Amino acid sequence: MIIDELIVKAKEARDNAYAPYSGFKVGAALLGKSGTIYTGANVENASYGLTVCAERIAVFKAVTSGEKKFESIAISGSGQGYIYPCGACLQVLAEFSPEMNVIITDEKNSYKEYNLSAMLPQIFSLGK
Ligand SMILES: [Zn+2]
Repeated sequence: MIIDELIVKAKEARDNAYAPYSGFKVGAALLGKSGTIYTGANVENASYGLTVCAERIAVFKAVTSGEKKFESIAISGSGQGYIYPCGACLQVLAEFSPEMNVIITDEKNSYKEYNLSAMLPQIFSLGK
């Protein structure tokens, strides 16, 4: 099942996170419409504001590989409980696929699935 595969890949990606400041590692696995899976992990910086979340790294990898429409993203964090994407990542995902699925996991391998439009019902746009 693709959800299980995405969760496994999100966890694997989490191992490559660079999080020496927070110690909070996050991995993401993004399924493109083509069937390709793009992974990402958070990358922190000594200048904290330059840190980039796992989800956005996965999106940027996909887009710069030529894929701009997505089915789902799974997110796995190193903390307790379900790890939800931040608002910035929701906006970046919505730029490309506002109706995609977002799968969040906890440390016990449970997951919840949401439609992105329910998590961010009013996206920012330039009104063009
Ligand atoms: Zn984020």
